[in-house]
Amino acid sequence: MSVNVLFAATEDRWTEYETPLRKEIAAAGIDAHVATDIPADQVDYIVYAPNSEVKDFAPFTRAKAVLNLWAGVEEIVGNPTLHLPLARMVDPALTQGMVEWVVGHVLRLHLGMDAHINAAAGTWEPQAPPLSFDTPVTVLGLGELGTACAHALAGLGFPVTGWSRTQKDIPDITCLSGDAGLDHALSVATYCVLLLPKTAATENTLNARTLALMPKGTRILNPGRGPLIDDDALLAALDAGHVDHATLDVFRVEPLPAEHPYWSHPRVTVTPHIASETRAAYSSKTIAENIRRGEAGEPFLYLVDRGAGY
Ligand code: NAP
Repeated sequence: MSVNVLFAATEDRWTEYETPLRKEIAAAGIDAHVATDIPADQVDYIVYAPNSEVKDFAPFTRAKAVLNLWAGVEEIVGNPTLHLPLARMVDPALTQGMVEWVVGHVLRLHLGMDAHINAAAGTWEPQAPPLSFDTPVTVLGLGELGTACAHALAGLGFPVTGWSRTQKDIPDITCLSGDAGLDHALSVATYCVLLLPKTAATENTLNARTLALMPKGTRILNPGRGPLIDDDALLAALDAGHVDHATLDVFRVEPLPAEHPYWSHPRVTVTPHIASETRAAYSSKTIAENIRRGEAGEPFLYLVDRGAGY
C-alpha cells in the first residue's frame, strides 16, 4: 500500500526537494505519494520545516511521525498539538558544512589572516602565528555537530575540551559536563565554539559571569543559536578587551537588524545564518530512511527528547 508523505515547508523548498525526496523514498523501497496538498487525515508522514504554514497537528490523525528538515527544533518542540514522534535532521552534509565553517573561522583568527589581507603595500612585519598545539579550544555541545567540529580541530592539533549535558567519553577530547565542568571548560578557552541547541537551560550560557571566567583575549564563535549568548554582556566584554573577537552566525532576531551594534563593531564578524545548510540531496536520504523505518516498525532515528527540548 502506498504511504502519503506531506511536504510541509515553504514553496521554494518544495522546488528543491520534490525530485530528490521522491527519488530517495523510492530508493528506500517505499511506494509513496509525496506532495504538498494531501488532506490532513490521510497523511502518514509530515516532512516539516518550522516556517511551514502547518502549526496545528491535531488534524493529522493517522500520521506516524514529523520529520524535521532542520537540526534545531526549538520552534516546534513545544507545540501543544504535537503528540507524534518528532525527528530532527542529521545528515553528513549538514555536519560537513558546520565543520568547514567552524574550522575556517577558527583558522582565520588563529593565523591572523586579516592582518595580511588588509596590510598596506610595503608593510613588512613578520610575526609567525601561534601553533595549534598551544591553543586550547572549547566546544560547548558535543552532539552531532559539536563532536564533528571537536574531532576536526583536534585533528589539526588544537587541544580540545568539550562540554555537554550528559558526560561523554570521546577519544582525544577532554569531556566535561555539569556546572563545574562548564566553568572549567571556559577557563581554558582560547577559542569557544557554541554548538548547543536553544532550550530553557542553554539560554545565556555565555553571560557576564561566564564570560569573565574565560582567559583575556578569548575568541568566541557562535553557529549554534543567538540566545545562547547575552548580547549586552558580550558587547561589554568586547569593549573591555576581555573578548578579542566574536564570529556570530546566529542571532536573537534574524535577519540581524541594521541598527544592531554587532554590524559595526570592529571585532565582531557577522555571517547570515549560513554556517550549515540542509541540502536536499543529502537530507532526503535521512527522511527516506526514517520513513522506511516507520513502515518496517523499526525505531526512528534522531528522535527529539521532548522533555530536554532537543
Ligand atoms: P545535538 O546532536 O542535539 O547536540 C546538542 C549538544 O548540546 C549535545 O551534546 C547536548 O548534550 C548538548 N546540550 C544540550 N543541552 C545542554 C545543556 N543544558 N547543558 C550542556 N549541554 C547541553 O545537536 P546538533 O545536531 O549538534 O546541533 C546543535 C545545534 O546547532 C542545533 O540545535 C542548532 O541550533 C544549531 N545549528 C545551526 C546551524 C547553522 O547554520 N547556524 C545549522 C545546524 C544546526 P548531550 O550530548 O548530553 O545530549
